Amino acid sequence: MNKSQSIQLSCVPDISLLQKSTLISVSHKFNKLDELSFVMFELDGIGIAAPQIGINKSCFLITHEIVKKYDQTYILEKCSVVENSYGKFYVFFNPSITSYLGKQYLQNDDLVNVPEGCLSLPNVGSRSSLHNEEKIGLVPRAKEITIIFNDINWISHNIKVSGQLSVVMQHEYDHLQGVVYPARMKCKQNIFWNDYINFEISRSTFTNDEIERFKKSVANFRIQTEENAKKFGPQF
Ligand SMILES: [Zn+2]
Repeated sequence: MNKSQSIQLSCVPDISLLQKSTLISVSHKFNKLDELSFVMFELDGIGIAAPQIGINKSCFLITHEIVKKYDQTYILEKCSVVENSYGKFYVFFNPSITSYLGKQYLQNDDLVNVPEGCLSLPNVGSRSSLHNEEKIGLVPRAKEITIIFNDINWISHNIKVSGQLSVVMQHEYDHLQGVVYPARMKCKQNIFWNDYINFEISRSTFTNDEIERFKKSVANFRIQTEENAKKFGPQF
């Protein structure tokens, strides 16, 4: 089987990226880890959430490499790492961020601003025009979070995570709430979305009607993911 042909990566404006994911009852009931990890490693992602392959179940993965790089407190060493033929990664089932620095409203001092990218918004975050001095693509995230989750062995963890690793977790967790990262960006959102639309159109063979439909779908997607962002997660 050629997996790259059989597994579809969900990209904006796919509806699966807007839905809130449902809880998983026990780990062995989720049998898509191979598919998820395949897509993550195949596309050089550092993390991936189940909705990104069209499955609205509460699960995300982060590569072992990224955890090793950023987990300065070795907090995730207690969790079992998974290794399959595609690579090594950590699994987070039913994650819940229970606290953003213990505050309801975050101030500037509580935030880190890091440029993000997403497999579901291909070719956007990594393009040079989005990393210029205008700071397009920078996403404010809480410096520290408390997160509860079950690992691959269904052992429950309740940990505090800070820095870059917490940023990755906040990004992946957002996917489970129907939020993509541009909805959290503080500025230049119009430029970002127009850039995305124009690039996707430029590499497609859309007819004029299809172009209009695509623009409308992305505009609707943007409205819904921004509503989700207001409903779920930290408020600034
Ligand atoms: Zn993403």
